[in-house]
Amino acid sequence: MVALRLGMAAVSAAAPPPSSSLIGIRSRTLCLHPFPRRSFPGGGRSHLCPLNVSSNDEASFKGVENVVIIGSGPAGYTAAIYAARANLKPLVFEGFQVGGVPGGQLMTTTEVENFPGFPDGISGPDLMDRMRKQAVRWGAELFQEDVEFVDVRSRPFSIKSSEREVRCHSIIVATGATAKRLRLPREDEFWSRGISACAICDGASPLFKGQVLAVVGGGDTATEEALYLTKYARHVHLLVRNNQLRASKAMQDRVLNSPNITLHFNTEAVDVVSNSKGQMSGVLLRRFDTGEESVLDAKGLFYGIGHSPNSQILEGQVELDSSGYIFVKDGASKTSVEGVFAAGDVQDHEWRQAVTAAGSGCVAALSVERYLVANDLLVEFHQPVTEEVKKELTEKDVEWHFDVSLTKHKGQYALRKLYHESPRLICVLYTAPTCGPCRTLKPILSKVIDEFDQDVHYVEIDIEEDPEIAEAAGIMGTPCVQFFKNKEMIRTVPGVKMKKEYKEFIEANK
Ligand SMILES: Cc1cc2nc3c(=O)[nH]c(=O)nc-3n(C[C@H](O)[C@H](O)[C@H](O)COP(=O)(O)OP(=O)(O)OC[C@H]3O[C@@H](n4cnc5c(N)ncnc54)[C@H](O)[C@@H]3O)c2cc1C
Repeated sequence: MVALRLGMAAVSAAAPPPSSSLIGIRSRTLCLHPFPRRSFPGGGRSHLCPLNVSSNDEASFKGVENVVIIGSGPAGYTAAIYAARANLKPLVFEGFQVGGVPGGQLMTTTEVENFPGFPDGISGPDLMDRMRKQAVRWGAELFQEDVEFVDVRSRPFSIKSSEREVRCHSIIVATGATAKRLRLPREDEFWSRGISACAICDGASPLFKGQVLAVVGGGDTATEEALYLTKYARHVHLLVRNNQLRASKAMQDRVLNSPNITLHFNTEAVDVVSNSKGQMSGVLLRRFDTGEESVLDAKGLFYGIGHSPNSQILEGQVELDSSGYIFVKDGASKTSVEGVFAAGDVQDHEWRQAVTAAGSGCVAALSVERYLVANDLLVEFHQPVTEEVKKELTEKDVEWHFDVSLTKHKGQYALRKLYHESPRLICVLYTAPTCGPCRTLKPILSKVIDEFDQDVHYVEIDIEEDPEIAEAAGIMGTPCVQFFKNKEMIRTVPGVKMKKEYKEFIEANK
């Protein structure tokens, strides 16, 4: 008798059911054979039974995913789109904070002018939103969690995040790269209070507007940051350790032709200095050629000194090069461990572009498919054909009228009213239009607020629309959350934190 059964890959027992907000709801193909697989290459599907699979294998593979993708930059989302289109039902750990924000490095840039298909350019966060939606549409299942542990020494592989453990037959590592820090003596003291690694996120904040600022570095990142900051700053000093710029010729020309940028060659930042109020007031500089030290008056210091690959979770398990980049073979995303593939900046110290990362994500997903087929491991999941793509409301759809009985509000009028009238805990999120991490934090915070609906009021302040409010609140970068109760500010939480940190605070203070 031939037993009817569902495709065996599924979310592991430890994982919660898929979120109903996901558009790409998983559906499984009814298979007449225990180990259905695709024909490859080409589009036609076959449901062949591998002869060498025993019922024991079948039992032990229960709950094992086809593929897990770690990372949600252009490489991770492209891999997810391809794997989902191939009916692999990829599971994606988008990350949260250890290796950068979900959406990756492009969440920190304004205009992307070189990604094909956007002749007028597109903002980095918008591009990443589109990639994410496309992955979800085809059935990728996403978790906004950092992967904390990976074991590829035994099979199936296992992956642990803070909230779940998953077993899988293959992995695509697309964890990208993280901005490097200078480790100045007072760096921690002034981090987000004068020192930043993201001009595009923080440049518009009141702390830096109209001020003299400094940028460290001589490559594309530093020159882009310096040019961007000239929109807001009174003047920008670019501090370059060498006696020339490493940036592309086009960027060099733009910097050299900008009257608002002064170049300092052979110069390194040694530390930051502060005034009597404890605010950052300058940068201590040292000349490489003469050893001479001087203080440059500046209210902000931006790092543009490159990136480190986020490969720590695989250290000692797959081959890395001397700088920590994952070593891949034959340009096919294959790492030193069969079934583990790498894509994007984590394996590319040379090109490091969104389109090359996306291309390698595609290669990785196709390689996974081949690998699963070759090893008789693939199980297909089909999207319901008739399923509609739900449309999300845009911000413009939302009404702006103030009504104290509502929990969520926007703008300074609402904040002033609530500050004086609300008996509830008030949670204020300060954002900026160009701030990628703000887009990450908004849905997280929104979910938390929903859980405490009648106990809390929430107000979103755009620091470009309401700069005086941000200034009065001492906001030095976005995103930033402040909590008020009984006309008193009781906590400031800069940056993007774990959901539970906001939850625990509200629970304790509601
Ligand atoms: C300021 C700036 C401007 C840029 N402008 C352009 C441009 O105009 N055009 C262009 O082509 N390129 C541009 N780039 C380069 C481009 O952003 C990168 O090449 C590209 O984003 C690399 O993609 P990726 O998918 O490899 O990694 P990333 O974009 O770095 O994404 C990595 C992802 O992995 C996640 N992650 C890391 N560790 C973990 C973990 N342990 N668990 C789970 N998830 C994890 C992170 O959260 C992140 O989502 C720019 C870069 C910067 C910094």
